This record gives sequence, C-alpha cells and structure tokens, in this order.
Amino acid sequence: MGPHTDWSPSSWRTKPIKQVVVYSDQTAVSSALTKLSGLPPIVTPTEIVKLKSSLQDAALGKAFLLQGGDCAELFSYCADDPIDAKIKLLLQMSLVLIWGANKPVIRIGRMAGQYAKPRSSPTEVVDGREIPSFRGDILNGFEPENRRVDPERLVSAYFHSATTLNYIRGQLSSGIADLHNPLDWELGHVRDEELQAKYSKIVSSISDSLRFMRTIGADTAGQLQTVDLYTSHEGLVLEYEQSLTRRLKHPVNYKPKTPSSDGKGWYNTSAHFIWIGDRTRQIDGGHVEYFRGIENPIGIKVGPSMKSDELVQLLDIVNPNKEVGKVTLITRYGKDKVEAMLGAHIEAVKATEHKVVWQCDPMHGNTHSTPTGIKTRSFNSIFSELSSALKIHKQHGSYLGGMHLELTGDAVTECTGGSEGLGEEDLSLNYTTFCDPRLNEKQALELAFLVAGHYRE
Ligand code: PEP
Ligand code: MN
Repeated sequence: MGPHTDWSPSSWRTKPIKQVVVYSDQTAVSSALTKLSGLPPIVTPTEIVKLKSSLQDAALGKAFLLQGGDCAELFSYCADDPIDAKIKLLLQMSLVLIWGANKPVIRIGRMAGQYAKPRSSPTEVVDGREIPSFRGDILNGFEPENRRVDPERLVSAYFHSATTLNYIRGQLSSGIADLHNPLDWELGHVRDEELQAKYSKIVSSISDSLRFMRTIGADTAGQLQTVDLYTSHEGLVLEYEQSLTRRLKHPVNYKPKTPSSDGKGWYNTSAHFIWIGDRTRQIDGGHVEYFRGIENPIGIKVGPSMKSDELVQLLDIVNPNKEVGKVTLITRYGKDKVEAMLGAHIEAVKATEHKVVWQCDPMHGNTHSTPTGIKTRSFNSIFSELSSALKIHKQHGSYLGGMHLELTGDAVTECTGGSEGLGEEDLSLNYTTFCDPRLNEKQALELAFLVAGHYRE
C-alpha cells in the first residue's frame, strides 16, 4: 500500500465536512461518479511531479510562483478568446516577473476546473426571494431558476475542464507563447508620464533581452518556443476529486518519500495543483483528510483566523515527510492584518523542519462593498498587502515565493484603481464576475510591473 495505510480516496467520508453538498437524487449522483471514475486522467503523474519539483525551487527562494485566474470559472469561459487572453496575460506577467526577480517563474492558472465556490451562506435573497446561493457551475447555475444542485454538472465539469486544458495544450504547442513573436505591450492607458516611462523601460529591456537571445541562437533547445502552464482549482467538491483520484505508476525518475511496493501512488488527476480553501481547512475535517493522501503539490489558504500552532499541525498532517515545496501556504490576511500576522506564521513554520512556498493572495482579505452594494477591491490595497508581504519575508530571512491573483484577460471593471484610474462610479461599466472582483488585464500587468520594480529597487 501507499504511505498511509489508514487513508483511501474515500476516507474523507468518515469525517465532518464543511460546505456540504445536499443532492436530492442519490441515484443520479452515483451514476455521475461512476461515469467520472471511468474517464481518463485530465493530467498525468509526470506533469504533477514536474510541477512539484519546480515548487521545491520556489520554497528555496530560487523560483517565483505566479498563479492566477477567475474566482469562479464558468463553463461558458471554455471558449477560445477568454482562454487565449488568460494564457497571454499570464505569459506577459511572468516575463515581467522574471525580469524583476531574476528567477524562473512557475505559471499556474486558476483554470480548467475552478468551478466550485465555497459560500458564506447557503442561501441568498434575490428579488425579494430566498434562493440557494450560487456554488459554482460544478453544482448549480447562476440563474435563479438553476440554483438546484444538479449531479449531471459533475460530469459536465470534467468535460469542460478537459476541453479547456486540451485547448491550452494545443495553443502552447502551436506557438501562442513563442517568444520569437513580438508581444503586444500596449501601455496607452498609463496616464502618469513617469509611470509610463518606467513601464516602457521594463518592456524595452525584456524585448532587448529576447532579441539578443534569438540573435545569438541561444534557443538551441527550443526553449523560447513554448512555456509550461499548469492548472489548479480549489479542491472543494470531494466526491468529484475522489472520482479523479487514481492509483498510478510513479514517473521513472521520481523518488517518493515513502516508496510503495507496487511503484504506484495516489494522484489527483483533475488538476496539477489543488488547494484547500480558508473555510474548509479544519484539522479534523474531510478536506484535510482527503488532501493528506495525494501526491500532488497542494495549497492551503491561510486567513486571519489561523493560529500558529494550528498551521504547524496542518503541515504535519498533510506533509508528514516534510517534502520541500509540497505545500504552498497562500496567505490572505488583508492589508491591515498582514503586519500583525505574517511574521508570526513565518516564525512558527521556521521553528519546524517544514519548507513551504509562501505565496501571497492579496485579493481575499481586501474585498469590500461600495455604498451601493457592489463587491470590489482597490488596486492600492492589493499592492499594499503584496509589498508588506515582500518586506516582512525579507525581515524574517524568508522568501515571498509567489503571488495568487484573481484576474481575467478581459477589460472588466471590477477592481478600482490602477493606471486607468477606475473609480467606484466606473464599476458598472463592465462588471461581469459571478463571484469575487478580478483584476483586468491592465491592472494585472501593472501589478507585475510593481512587484518586479520592488525586486529591482
Ligand atoms: C478563492 O480563492 O476564491 C477563495 C474562496 O478563497 P479563500 O478560501 O481564501 O476565501
Ligand atoms: Mn475568490
């Protein structure tokens, strides 16, 4: 057997669980899960292990993890334009970060499976009527008449996930990320001349470096032709995750910390990386139980209610062998709490032998509603939490290993601020998120410029 003889892909079912899903038709659930169990893996152990090995570098301060995508990915985003826009944005941001931090950048999309949403309340009032909350396309539909949980959606999630990833793979192998092609770095929206000059200088520097590499023929291994892009989502709907958890042969060069006699391990094949949300990280809960048994690299959201001893306990449970880079701690305290909390968490982990990737999610602790009730985030608060995180890690002799953002390649108006100067009065222009507010393409790229600048100062 594998490393945990008391663990199985279904052992989470014996534990209490938050964000529980109540299906009315058990027969339909069983048939959906049986169908899922027979479908091929969406990702493979070789890819999963390759990502885990790259994350080792991020834990040691030798690489930077850029993770981004929608808060709630809809099935309807499974279309060429939104996927292309996200790939290009993540690519451009990563180039800026490589330039700034002088380190390789690992790219993970919140894509091809980010269909499940934890909710603070199971119901909400819409047009004076109390209806079930939208829990993501994997469970129910956003339209008020589609709020009933439908088990067919579990299967639909698989196919949308696989189709999205199929298109990503196709585009990457067809040159969407080919650095021989010039990238569009349109900076016309940056009104501040000084800032515009600063960003243009970074772009010229990146373009010059790429041109130089091409000219001297530094691309013998074809490394400029494409890049790696991994997928991730919150591992929330455990019956779905369980169906895609497979006992598979370890890759040839992979040395698992606890080898098994059959040379196999349990891989979650729904995505390369999955994370536990801040609402489902209870030590004795079903989610932590499920996560402790899989080979994949995993994330844990760390919000302001996390106690230091609880954090260490969690690490001991999900990573008993203390594999470096196996766990990414995704901290999301909010700009006003990060100072009081991050340092203590860093010290608590330092006092153990765990080596984690510290990733800052500057989005989820910085959400507020406008006087008219629109959920938004300000660019300045987002950057403020990020710069505090960079500074605090440095003070504690640690590394900020990455950033986790909610973003889209579309020109949405959901977060305020940034060089376009979006104000609260502009939010209604193109507010299309079905959950949390995302950075638009310009704001996301600008954040990358600012973080890169931070490293160069
Ligand atoms: C999210 O990442 O969309 C999310 C729900 O985050 P958290 O669990 O940190 O609240
Ligand atoms: Mn969110």
